[in-house]
Amino acid sequence: MQGDIGPAAAVSRDTIVALSSGLLPSGVAVVRLTGPRVRHVVTALAGSLPDPRIARYGGLMLPDGSRLDSGLTLFFPSPHSFTGEDCAEFQLHGGRAVVEALLQTICRMEGCRLAAAGEFTRRAFENGKLSLLDAEATADIVNAETEAQRRFAVGNATGANGRLYADWRQRLIRARAFIEAELDFSDEGDVPDSVAAQVWADMAALSGEIARHAAGYDKAEILRDGYDVVLLGAPNAGKSSLLNALSQREAAIVTAEPGTTRDLIEVLLDLAGMKVRLTDTAGIRETEGTVERIGIERARRKAGSADLLLVLEDLADPVAVPGLPGDVPALRIGTKADLVGPSDDRAGVDFVISCMSGEGLPALLEEIGRRALAAAPAAGELVPWRLRHVELLQTGAAHIDRAVTRQQLGLELRSEELRLAADALGRISGAVDVEDLLDVVFRQFCIGK
Ligand code: GDP
Repeated sequence: MQGDIGPAAAVSRDTIVALSSGLLPSGVAVVRLTGPRVRHVVTALAGSLPDPRIARYGGLMLPDGSRLDSGLTLFFPSPHSFTGEDCAEFQLHGGRAVVEALLQTICRMEGCRLAAAGEFTRRAFENGKLSLLDAEATADIVNAETEAQRRFAVGNATGANGRLYADWRQRLIRARAFIEAELDFSDEGDVPDSVAAQVWADMAALSGEIARHAAGYDKAEILRDGYDVVLLGAPNAGKSSLLNALSQREAAIVTAEPGTTRDLIEVLLDLAGMKVRLTDTAGIRETEGTVERIGIERARRKAGSADLLLVLEDLADPVAVPGLPGDVPALRIGTKADLVGPSDDRAGVDFVISCMSGEGLPALLEEIGRRALAAAPAAGELVPWRLRHVELLQTGAAHIDRAVTRQQLGLELRSEELRLAADALGRISGAVDVEDLLDVVFRQFCIGK
């Protein structure tokens, strides 16, 4: 245990237990525990401690001598465990009553209780087994819903962002050492002006690198929260029909939420491994009705923040859509192709579809998937993947900018700005003073992780 962690270290003297596998009932359930009483708990339930890291099959016994269940027991002695403490796993039948009986039995033992969300990973962090970035990457792997999210999370778990931030922090620390040397020896003129100029030029460059990297967060956000596609078009252009047609395909990961036609209705699709959020809007047209005006206003706002607009136009009855946001990419979709002949005017539309016959839908889905994938980070591209990281990066860059540009502050204060910048970067990985962040970070985990 680290002694200097503060309040969290005191809490972690408990032995904690949780179901680490998924919903019950299941074939097998994995119940995990960590803490100082693990040896006692395992011995009480399984008769004796198994050899480290070797699964042992046998009965698990209740305190009254009756059998709870039989299964595998694994023991991971400290420090060679996920949390760094003594850990154990029971793999038993995944019945609700079986798991409940095991958890209750353990929780009745002295010093044992149920784990809070993320508490196992938090202990791993507190015992130096993981950085905060590692912990967050683990949460992302657990939460990944699509193939692109999985690949990104697994890539992040290699620690490339952590190395980048550590390098930047080292550059700041080195720069500060030069500046401090200049302060110490300024009378003797030991640090030539050219060296100081180089240091400040490097700091200006670093601020630019950080800002460019931080700008990549938009891509991570698209990957995590979904590529936002908004359907626009006059009433009866065929928006709901398209949404329904697409959500009934295998690609749909969530079905349409109920609502009136004036609400925004969302469907989540998995296209090309990307999470794509498709939103139907109230028909955009000029109107006097207050309620409808509110719906249209919401539709316009939603359209303005979209990643892609699908502008639907009934080929049999074209009505122009007024007031499209100019800065959002748009695809113009001619609908109800089955109602018009092949020779009818289809000029000006990018895709022709029919929800009745299915014509054009696969091509449209493919194009949306292609665009979604292109909007996400490329393989190996380093982008910040949490708003928390972006905020700390921006704080760091702002301190560097102050140090670089505010020469009137004097070297001492400019050096202090560099220290604050290095600390901001250090807080991303948890190398620096992060006690106040821990609750926020670990709350994102599920119980048993
Ligand atoms: P929205 O108001 O834009 O959501 O339009 P809807 O999806 O409700 O469609 C309006 C009308 O057009 C409905 O009666 C649909 O059945 C019809 N419709 C939608 N798509 C097609 C299509 O591809 N072919 C034909 N023939 N009718 C369609």
